Amino acid sequence: MNIGIIGSGYGGAVAALRLAEQGYDVDVIEMGVDWETMPKKNGLVFTKMTAPNERSMWFKTKTQMPFGRLFDIPLIDKNIGWGAGVLDVENFGFMNVYLGHGVGGGSLVNGGMAVVPRQSYFRKILPQIDAGEMFAKYFPRANDTLGVAEPPRDIIGASKYYNFARVAANQAVKAGFQTAFVPNVYDWDYMRQESFNNVERSALNGQVIFGNDHGKKTLPKTYWAKAKATGKVHLKPLTEVLSITQNPDNTFTLKTKTIDFDGRVLKNEELTYDRLIMAAGSIGTSKLLVRAKNTGTIKNLPNETGKRWGPNGNVMVARNMGTATGVYQAGIPAMGVTNWDDSPNSVFAEIAPFPAGIELKTGLYLAITENPTLGEFTWNGADQSVGLNWTQQMSAPSVAAAKAFMEKMNAANRGTSNRSDLFEDNKAFSDYFSYHPLGGMIIGEATDLNGEVKGVPNLFVMDGSLIPGRIGVNPFVTITALAERNIDKLISARKFG
Ligand code: FAD
Repeated sequence: MNIGIIGSGYGGAVAALRLAEQGYDVDVIEMGVDWETMPKKNGLVFTKMTAPNERSMWFKTKTQMPFGRLFDIPLIDKNIGWGAGVLDVENFGFMNVYLGHGVGGGSLVNGGMAVVPRQSYFRKILPQIDAGEMFAKYFPRANDTLGVAEPPRDIIGASKYYNFARVAANQAVKAGFQTAFVPNVYDWDYMRQESFNNVERSALNGQVIFGNDHGKKTLPKTYWAKAKATGKVHLKPLTEVLSITQNPDNTFTLKTKTIDFDGRVLKNEELTYDRLIMAAGSIGTSKLLVRAKNTGTIKNLPNETGKRWGPNGNVMVARNMGTATGVYQAGIPAMGVTNWDDSPNSVFAEIAPFPAGIELKTGLYLAITENPTLGEFTWNGADQSVGLNWTQQMSAPSVAAAKAFMEKMNAANRGTSNRSDLFEDNKAFSDYFSYHPLGGMIIGEATDLNGEVKGVPNLFVMDGSLIPGRIGVNPFVTITALAERNIDKLISARKFG
């Protein structure tokens, strides 16, 4: 049995580990770098936020941060070299989606916030899945294998690196909101040692969305370390799947392109698999399958292919805090403001760091809002490309919730106001962006209830594209737990022989 997995983020890592444990050999095709093999440059594998280079972004000449401006001047984005860097942004009209590339996918660039959704909300969004089983079995398994831990009060409550979080939490309490310590995959003992200068610094050295050298338990340190130890996993980094063709015997042939770090093409190959697992993320999987459907290389892909996509209600908002938030800020978020009662103005706002190295008196929040609007991927026959229909109007419910949140915060805290010099068009928020793309191949709609694509035997989906557009919290724990559930059921059903 010849098994291929496309993508090495959460879905790919879970599938590879659980299949390898059962004795199956798996190929993992990943378009990004295997960063564990990357030599250090200037003492680091990845870069600080303030000193990006060619390792920071995927083939760009300039960084593209979600907030590129400061004092209305484009001060934040910096010119960088050209290379297969770790953070990518896909620009689709009115939606910029941020993604991680490399062995470990989004785990390489994300904030590590590891949040289990409220069970009632999970039931609302995924009624087709047995929530009782998920919460009793698969969420605990995901948290355990990911190494999730509560932030310790001595660090968050006292360290100068978390002053920004304490200031924002105090203001939230004054506004009548609840605040919460948010679990994370960062090794908090390591952070304690960082603060004593006993170890090389990472989160306390301004590392976050361009990768993290130490401390964060990324997938290469958890799932991939275990999967590699089986000797059954064969990684093909810097190899992009360009197209998928279903053969008459229901095997799949992939056209791939392997590059070096600078983007030079080293080889083009065709790889054939008996079983194919799509784990290229919501955007990657949807793009490949929408292409296959429209070019006819996979027959019988369901009409639900590429449908019901959403940005998890993401809006980035910024406030003048009226007081110092700290020159020194840890790169890892640890607190959130919760105002979630399922009403249209529900918000779960991550208190995000802004490790700019100067005092900005700024509060930055990644607000997750309740936006029921869903978009879909589109096919442009003229240039054979996949697009995404997401308009400004579709973000309106998220904007209304974010504005209501900010107004309440500003009203309760004298001397504070919206900060409109960071984002485009003098807005105090970014409604054209997502860190949390979800949907495109919904479980129970485009796939059966275990992730096998309807009408296409031997083709499975195992990533964020299974979840219809939103989950009310940061999504990687849900993606991991759902993948744990699906691979369990697929192995039991002997889908891999
Ligand atoms: P991914 O992790 O995106 O993995 C997909 C993989 O497939 C990637 O490695 C990609 O390179 C590869 N790939 C794609 N297309 C192809 C192709 N054609 N050929 C070969 N390989 C391909 N979530 C949280 O829960 N908490 C957080 O704190 C958090 N912070 C975030 C911060 C940032 C800056 C970003 C960008 C995301 C953040 N997220 C966070 C979101 C989280 O990382 C994603 O939801 C998660 O990584 C999605 O998992 P996945 O398995 O669906 O896909």
